[in-house]
Amino acid sequence: MIFRGHVVTPTSGGWADWPDARIEVDGAQIRAVGPWRRSHHYADLRPHILFPGLVDTHAHVPQLPICGVHPEDLLNWLRKWVFPLEKKFRGERARELSRRFMQDMLEQGTTTAGLYTSAWPDSVDACFAAAEEAGIHAWIGPPLMDEGAYRPVTAKRVIDEARALAALDRPKLRFAVAPRFALSCSEELLEACGDLARARDLPIQTHLAEQPEECRQVRRRFRRGYVEVYDRAGLVGPRTIFAHCIWLTAADWRRIAHTAVAHCPTSNVFLRSGVMDWRRAQVARVGFGTDVGAGPDLSVFRVARMAWTVHSLAGHTIDAGDLLRTATLGGAAALGFDDVGSLEAGKSADFIVLDADHIMPAGAPTTESTDDLLSRILHRSGRSSIRQVYVAGRLVAERTTTSPSPPARPSSGRAAGCG
Ligand SMILES: [Zn+2]
Repeated sequence: MIFRGHVVTPTSGGWADWPDARIEVDGAQIRAVGPWRRSHHYADLRPHILFPGLVDTHAHVPQLPICGVHPEDLLNWLRKWVFPLEKKFRGERARELSRRFMQDMLEQGTTTAGLYTSAWPDSVDACFAAAEEAGIHAWIGPPLMDEGAYRPVTAKRVIDEARALAALDRPKLRFAVAPRFALSCSEELLEACGDLARARDLPIQTHLAEQPEECRQVRRRFRRGYVEVYDRAGLVGPRTIFAHCIWLTAADWRRIAHTAVAHCPTSNVFLRSGVMDWRRAQVARVGFGTDVGAGPDLSVFRVARMAWTVHSLAGHTIDAGDLLRTATLGGAAALGFDDVGSLEAGKSADFIVLDADHIMPAGAPTTESTDDLLSRILHRSGRSSIRQVYVAGRLVAERTTTSPSPPARPSSGRAAGCG
C-alpha cells in the first residue's frame, strides 16, 4: 500500500517535511518514506499532512469518566473522585470502558501509551485485550497499593497478583510494575515492586513529587526524601518512567537522570500542582502525558500546547519542533519503543492524517518554512483536525463529520480507497 500526501516527521537529526511524498507500507511496517515518485496505485491523501501517531506516556483508563470535574488538591481529589471510581472498574464495566478509552485515544491521534488500570486484576486483562484489539503499543499496569487502598489487601497478595499478571508481558504490550505512588505503598510493597521488576525485566511506572503536601507526607512517613524512597526500593533506573516530577531539587534531578519523565502540564494546571522544570528535565527522556482523568481529555496536542504556554509564561519559550518531537519520538523513547514515534523505514506504520484545511487558515501562504508549519501544527491541531488514524498500516479511526473538501486535484495515478 502506498499513501501520498504531505509527510512531516521527526528524524534523528531534525524534521523531514516533504509537501508531496509517499509512505510505502508493507503489512504492518513502513517499507520506505520519501519524496513522491510515480506509482500507479496509491491512496491520494493530498493536500493533507501525514504525521506520526502521538505518544501519551501517562493516563489512567478508569478515570476517563471524571475528566473535567471539579479540581481539588491532589490528595482530596484522589479520595473524593478517583478511588470510588476505580473501585467500580472491574468485570464488564472494565471491559466496556477499556474499549471506549482505546477508541477515544485513537480518535485523538494517539497510537502508543503508558496506561494504568484499577487495582483489580481483571481490569488488567480487560485493558490488555482492548489494547491488543486497537493494535497500539502500550505499557499497562495496575496501580499497586496496600496503604489506604480502596481494596484492602496485604503487600504479599498485591505482589503475588502482579507476578501472575506479568505473564501478560510481551514486546508490544508491556506489563508495567506500577506502585501508585509512595503514599499508597508500604516500604515492603515498594521493595517487592523493585524486586519483581528486576527479576522479570519489567518496566516501572509511578508518580513522583506532584504536590508539596504529598512530598511533606512522604518525608514524614518514610523519614527521607521522595526520590530516596524510590531509590532504596530499587525503583530508579533506565526502565522507569516518573510522572509529574515538579517538586524536585537539583540533586533529585541528577539522581533520576537516565530515567524517563511523563510531563503532564494540563493535569498540573488543573490540580494546580505547579510547573515542572523543563530544562532540568532534559537529563531524562521526556514524553507527554495527558494524565486523564486530571487532564481534561486524551489530546496529546493539547498537552504539548499547554507545555508551550506554561513554560513560556515561566520565561522559557520552547520551539514547536521540540514540543512535537516530545509528543512523538520523545514519548516513544521514554517508553522504550524504538519502532514507533516517527515515519521511517522499518517502523510500525502508525500515522495520522491531519486536515490541511484545519492546520492552514484561510489566506495562509501555500508554501512556508518547516518551522512555521510545525508552529501551526502545534497551535491548531486537535481532535477535529484528525481525518484518519492508521495503526500498523490499518485504518482504525476516521472523522465522520468532515469540513468542506478542498477542490479535487488531478492525480497522475489511480487513487485507492483507504483501509
Ligand atoms: Zn497519574
